[in-house]
Amino acid sequence: MKTWWRRRTLRFRLAAWYGVGGTLLLAAFSATLYSYVAETMARPLDSELQQDLAEIRLRLAITAEGELRWNRAAVADEAHWNSENPWFELWNEQGELVRRFWPFTETRIESVPLKPEPGRERISIFSVARDLRLRVLSVPYAVPDRGETWMIRVMTVHRPMADGLGALRLIIVVALPVVVALLVLGGYALTRRWLKPLDLMVAEANRITMDDLGRRLPVVNPHDELGRLAGVFNVTLDRLEESFVALDRFVADASHELRTPLTTLRSVGEVGLRRSRTVEEYREIIGSMLEEAQRLQLLTQRLLELASTEGGAPAVQHTPVRLDELVRRCVGELGILAENKNQRVLVEAPECTAHTDPILLRQAVQNLVDNAIKYSPAGTTIQVKVRETGDHWVIEVTDEGPGISVEHRSRLTARFFRPDSGRDRGRGGFGLGLALTKAYLRLLGGTVEYAPAPGGGSTFRLTLPRV
Ligand code: ADP
Repeated sequence: MKTWWRRRTLRFRLAAWYGVGGTLLLAAFSATLYSYVAETMARPLDSELQQDLAEIRLRLAITAEGELRWNRAAVADEAHWNSENPWFELWNEQGELVRRFWPFTETRIESVPLKPEPGRERISIFSVARDLRLRVLSVPYAVPDRGETWMIRVMTVHRPMADGLGALRLIIVVALPVVVALLVLGGYALTRRWLKPLDLMVAEANRITMDDLGRRLPVVNPHDELGRLAGVFNVTLDRLEESFVALDRFVADASHELRTPLTTLRSVGEVGLRRSRTVEEYREIIGSMLEEAQRLQLLTQRLLELASTEGGAPAVQHTPVRLDELVRRCVGELGILAENKNQRVLVEAPECTAHTDPILLRQAVQNLVDNAIKYSPAGTTIQVKVRETGDHWVIEVTDEGPGISVEHRSRLTARFFRPDSGRDRGRGGFGLGLALTKAYLRLLGGTVEYAPAPGGGSTFRLTLPRV
């Protein structure tokens, strides 16, 4: 049953719920309404019964011998009971019927009411003939002369009120199935309409493949649950597509960039093996091969970093970071390179704390300081400044190098961009450092800009949001 139910469509399950749940709820509602109306309609009858009871108590007397008196006169055994008098029965303590005072002949009666429960006051309804229902009030009745408690049962015709209730019952019986049928049909039709976008989404999702990642799920109504689901799914698809594009680009870039060092590596090896050489010559050949291998290693590492940054792989973890300390540490790590070129690196950073990812920011600052050292002539000065402007933190790296000509500035952060590739290859650059810096800053919500420095050098400026 459970698997059968789970195999049904949502539409079917909702319609079934409307059917079963609606029937149960409406049945409970109708039953409550019915008993409330029945109770309200019976109230006049019950007060009539109470009046009759008071009259009986007034007029009826039972002697110690058990003789019945009505209005002080003895009641003859076979006397016809006047219908103007209250109708009632007397039951003695042994639960035997003493006398039935009602105006019907026994032939009219098809079944007599069951005997009353001794000692308990209650109201009940008895059908005594096909067209005659009696509303009955049973109460304990003290017979002082005999020292006993009998039961007295006052009754009246229930019929007039049964008519009104019958009509109500008929309405309920006819209306209930109609309402339930409307609920089921309406529920099915509405869920069919509401879930239509889901069918469209399923059809579209089936068409999305590795080669066709540009497709997106249709968003029929962006405000409802299905629209929001499609929206979230589309954002996930965007990220997935970005990752695939980054991966594709990585493969293309890598195969393009790895070709040259690999060819160099191979040619050096082949030339080296062409004839026998001295140990010194072999040492030189292996040295240059190792150098090339090292470059290869560095290049692959950078390409991987870039691919994972662009594919959104690194999780950015914002923490409070002392910017002045971070900058000083970067400069300290690269100090040896500056020393080799007899350069001075000056840091001007007041004590300040930013809320950012220290690892990504450090990589970015390191790239800029490394470039400044790499591309500036020996004996020059490099300045690193940290300052605060309104709602941003700014880190500037200024050098006294050759600067970057106007026509190259717009493409500086493009991958593999090297204004003078011949010159830069010699210094170990791949044209990936600024592309990486830009990617890191994008993840941190900031930017990287270039500005010419007074005196012909370069200023690279990182801007980070303070919040
Ligand atoms: P690379 O790995 O080649 O250094 P980058 O992306 O860091 O790659 O830099 C791209 C190019 O921009 C470099 O090859 C260089 O020509 C130029 N460049 C970067 N920084 C500077 C600088 N401080 N001064 C002059 N030229 C620079």
